[in-house]
Amino acid sequence: MDSRTCLACQVNAGGIIYRDSLWQVDHRVDPGPILGWLVLKPLRHVEFLDDRTPEEASTLGVIAARIVGALRAALPEPPEKVYHVLLAEAADCSHLHWLLVPRPKSHPVAFRGPRIFGTPGPDVGLAAIEAVADRLRERIRVP
Ligand SMILES: [Zn+2]
Repeated sequence: MDSRTCLACQVNAGGIIYRDSLWQVDHRVDPGPILGWLVLKPLRHVEFLDDRTPEEASTLGVIAARIVGALRAALPEPPEKVYHVLLAEAADCSHLHWLLVPRPKSHPVAFRGPRIFGTPGPDVGLAAIEAVADRLRERIRVP
């Protein structure tokens, strides 16, 4: 796999909530029932944590904290938890990408924790995603 066949590399060329010289943040674009489900990834095609540059390694925590703060401020229902999940296991995406999933207080108990991936329900819809993306863009700022 390389940047031509990697899903994350392809999405990097599309809609963006945040981007700097190292990192990009997008909203999950495939159908999903949770508003604010974000994907944080390095711009470079990196498959293992120890493949990162020292600068990528040292800035990850800073940008992740900025995103979580923006999610807590921007969502219509503030999350009770924000999950951080790194699998990069999909056949079309071995590119490191962290799923930042704002689990609302009202989320069914049966679909919390690792069961979040099985959450049933309708897609939150592009209009809601675009609205929250605008609010997130206002809040994720480079200091
Ligand atoms: Zn990639």
